Amino acid sequence: MPALLVCHHCDTVYRRRALARGEVARCRRCNAELERYQRLNEDALLALALAAIVVFVQANIWPIVTLGLNDQQVSATLWGTILAMWRDGFPLVAMLVAATLFFSPLLQLMLLGWLLWFARRGRRAPGFRRAMLALHYLGPWTMSEVFVIGVLVAIVKAHVYFDVTPDAGIWAYGALMLLITVFSGVDLRPMWDLGEGPA
Ligand SMILES: [Zn+2]
Repeated sequence: MPALLVCHHCDTVYRRRALARGEVARCRRCNAELERYQRLNEDALLALALAAIVVFVQANIWPIVTLGLNDQQVSATLWGTILAMWRDGFPLVAMLVAATLFFSPLLQLMLLGWLLWFARRGRRAPGFRRAMLALHYLGPWTMSEVFVIGVLVAIVKAHVYFDVTPDAGIWAYGALMLLITVFSGVDLRPMWDLGEGPA
């Protein structure tokens, strides 16, 4: 860990000191946050990112709900639902669902994995600056939690008309939601202090 800390807002330089649990270091000049106590190290974060990718794959392969109507059982996966919406004349909704539930979390997890893979070895990943920016802008576009809650509410409501049961996919999305929440609380800024080039 470098001995000096630079405020990214006003470029004031500080001597770094170890932070205790829950402590946040702030810039004395502009009050911007410099650093906060880091609970997880890069190895743990990388393991968590890989676990999240596995869960993400399962959430997309496994059906989300099963509809029982008369004697028929119909299971729907996320992509099955997106394609059905597209065919039924809701291309905009289909694209929005695909962006917020598939592409945004997938890209986010892959970028995190990429950055952490190199951070473990004490250096910045190729394309570091762009990856950090992309993560910053992608954050609000991942809406697994809205989706999980929405589906569960829909299941409860549809239960009046159909025989609806939640499937493994929705629980996988629930787990993904928890993992993504953990990541959104992790401070990635210490990675700016990593050196470029091979360590
Ligand atoms: Zn400052």
